[in-house]
Amino acid sequence: MSINRRNFIMATGIAAAASSAPGMLRAQTGSARVVVVGGGFGGATAAKYLKHWGGNKVEVTLIDPKTRHTSCVMSNLVLNNELALNDLRFGYGDLTSKYGVQIIKDTVSRIDPGGRVLTLKNQAPVNYDMLVLAAGISFKKPKGWNARKNPHAWIAGNQTNLLKKQLQAMPAGGTFVMTIPRSPYRCPPGPYERACLVADMVKSNGGGRVVILDANDDIQAEKETFSRAYSQLYGNIVEYYPGAETGFVDSNAGVVETSLGDFAGDVINIIPTQRAGGLVRKAGLTDGGLWAPVDVTTYESSLAGYEDIHIIGDAQGSGQPKSAHMANAQAKICADAILRKVASQPTDHPERLQNITTNSACYSPITRNTASWLTAVFQYDIDSNAMALAHIAEAGEWTRDNYSEMFDWANNLFGDTWG
Ligand SMILES: Cc1cc2nc3c(=O)[nH]c(=O)nc-3n(C[C@H](O)[C@H](O)[C@H](O)COP(=O)(O)OP(=O)(O)OC[C@H]3O[C@@H](n4cnc5c(N)ncnc54)[C@H](O)[C@@H]3O)c2cc1C
Repeated sequence: MSINRRNFIMATGIAAAASSAPGMLRAQTGSARVVVVGGGFGGATAAKYLKHWGGNKVEVTLIDPKTRHTSCVMSNLVLNNELALNDLRFGYGDLTSKYGVQIIKDTVSRIDPGGRVLTLKNQAPVNYDMLVLAAGISFKKPKGWNARKNPHAWIAGNQTNLLKKQLQAMPAGGTFVMTIPRSPYRCPPGPYERACLVADMVKSNGGGRVVILDANDDIQAEKETFSRAYSQLYGNIVEYYPGAETGFVDSNAGVVETSLGDFAGDVINIIPTQRAGGLVRKAGLTDGGLWAPVDVTTYESSLAGYEDIHIIGDAQGSGQPKSAHMANAQAKICADAILRKVASQPTDHPERLQNITTNSACYSPITRNTASWLTAVFQYDIDSNAMALAHIAEAGEWTRDNYSEMFDWANNLFGDTWG
């Protein structure tokens, strides 16, 4: 479970990683079969806390096609060889042995909300009383794009290793081109952080160019910090182009066509427009949009006809940042709400509503041994029936201490999710 390189120390406890649940369940009556789809940050946390808090009142099954989840968090450090992908892989053994979560290794291909049944790719259908969907994101692919030539590396795994290999093979003086989609996308500071790390590699390799083609009008997170890093640390390397909407990608020629013109690169990293995964969209849970609307006090779908279907993590569309830390926090609100329903308790008790908070945290490596950070706290606002930003803070500088704390923070989050 723990990452064994550099100063990774397996930290116990959840203080840095988790927002608190709105209240502990005291289940009196009822039982339910809860099925969780997706064993990433949202799904694994939900499955764990449903059993941890609900005990025998719930039967919890987690379905994921893989035996281990590969974390996107910290995966930019695979690119510069500070970590290996294996350091970021987490299995589901503890969820079963410590909490009694049942695991099915398969892909859910269809949801029947009326019949409350899931069709699996390889195995028999699975019935549920309550469903938690935490199946992450999918991409809107630009025309011409071939991800095997121009990796996204925005879902960690083979794509991350492919981008790493391409960066290692990039000639001195070469050009790295990265596209950033319009917000909202997974991990707001992530692309800017990646640009810093690649610029750091390019700098150590005798120079070159890092071209950032941002579809947004400005840097989306930690603007001051990244702007300063680009000018002070990587002045001759990073070129930042706001308002550069990606059009056709000529993967054979290595050229990205944008609203600002064409850009050629030796290594091209396409981070495409994002939306909820296909399972959630095909079930009609996004109502034709990119993300699934939810009631933020329970994470149940806010659309009619989808009772007892909850969507957490990146796929939901509540306006909160799409981060692993946030998915972990939402999972606890969702687990608490489901357990209250099982116990025939209301989920809209004023005391519970007042205590619904979530938070997000992202550490961003700026060089191979320094980092900055950003955190945001959201509080439920009864008038707007939405999560409102209550507090935001950022490091404002990149330091070695932040870099070291980043590993403690990540290990807390990993431990609270899969441990
Ligand atoms: C480079 C990078 C850096 C990041 N850094 C940070 C950071 O510092 N801090 C932070 O908080 N966040 C960070 N993030 C964001 C974070 O990784 C995501 O927000 C988080 O993974 C979302 O969790 P999720 O549970 O919604 O989806 P995921 O973690 O993507 O999990 C989805 C799971 O669903 C499974 N699945 C998909 N479809 C199906 C199906 N049909 N049937 C069954 N299972 C299915 C997948 O196999 C997967 O295991 C970063 C992201 C990137 C790309």
